[in-house]
Amino acid sequence: MVELLWLLLPVAALSGWMAGRRSRGGGQGHGSRLHGEYFQGLNYLLNEQPDKAIEVFMRMVEVDSDTVETHLALGNLFRRRGEVDRAIRIHQNLIARPSLSREQRTYALLELGEDYLRAGLLDRAESLFTEVVELDAHVEPALRSLLDIYQQEKEWGKAIEVASRLESVSGEKLSPMIAQFLCEQAELARASGEINQAGQLLRHALSVHPGCVRASILQGDVERSVANYRAAIPAYQRVADQDVEYLPEVLQPLRECFEALDRRQDFIAYLESIQNRYQGVSVLLLLTEQILHEHGEEAAASHLIRQLHRRPSVRGLNRLIELNLAGHGGSGMSEMEVLRDLFSELLRDKPVYSCRQCGFCARTLHWHCPSCRSWASIRPIQGVEGE
Ligand SMILES: [Zn+2]
Repeated sequence: MVELLWLLLPVAALSGWMAGRRSRGGGQGHGSRLHGEYFQGLNYLLNEQPDKAIEVFMRMVEVDSDTVETHLALGNLFRRRGEVDRAIRIHQNLIARPSLSREQRTYALLELGEDYLRAGLLDRAESLFTEVVELDAHVEPALRSLLDIYQQEKEWGKAIEVASRLESVSGEKLSPMIAQFLCEQAELARASGEINQAGQLLRHALSVHPGCVRASILQGDVERSVANYRAAIPAYQRVADQDVEYLPEVLQPLRECFEALDRRQDFIAYLESIQNRYQGVSVLLLLTEQILHEHGEEAAASHLIRQLHRRPSVRGLNRLIELNLAGHGGSGMSEMEVLRDLFSELLRDKPVYSCRQCGFCARTLHWHCPSCRSWASIRPIQGVEGE
């Protein structure tokens, strides 16, 4: 039925428009009736009855095609229903009208930009949103959409520019996001061998958002890659102050740095000092390794048992079984072997990270959630089955 109405629209619109032109200046009652229908349409929308809403709006368009708001509502409705072609036609039609006020025209441009964005026509959407920003009306939604486009296109320089502008227009704190864009640029610089440039971008990221864990990890990685371990260590250690839940990410690289400098004891001292602040199993496992190294399997196993009583952990238990097997030379322990295999199996497919925003689970750390596209929302999973 909506299809049929759509076919009738051009005819109805034309005759309605002419009628509207002729009757301009009169008809108070006409306007208020339209008003009533408009709210009726809105009501249907709010009650999630889009078919009925479309019916009402189409009727209004037939009566008076000069009703810009109705066109805008209809276009928006089509877009939300996924009928982007129709939305585009409505908005293009609207923009072509010479009678539009500046405000109405800018709003229609914004809506058409949203249609293009939805249709994946990013270039066209970008130029419309840029035009809207230049017209200095509806700047905030236009900037938000531009920010979305530049992230999709991985144009980090433009994304930084737009985010800074949006921050000053909306008052919203976007510095954590801007720091992520700078980290993206730093990763690109590093990949093309521009180490100094990468270092500069990371310092910039940390000055924009001092809590940026990713910038610290990357700084450590960059320094470690050029064997500058002395500089890498404080960069990695900073993560514990920024957000201690990310500590497991830097433990292995930190260990490598300390070992490269022949400072193994300093690493152990660091682990012991951090233990009170961080309850995760990664630190416990590394300390257990150290005890194993110095005092053998039995001491390591009894330390592990003591700690696991306080905070149970699947990974800790798995390590305990391995230690027990090793302590008995692996013989006559078939039950233990079964358990070990079971745990290994269990841990192999377990996600290690999850998104705090949408619950997306992953085996590797993403800084940009592939599912909900939030930044730095994916974190190591805590608790018995995780850290
Ligand atoms: Zn997510």
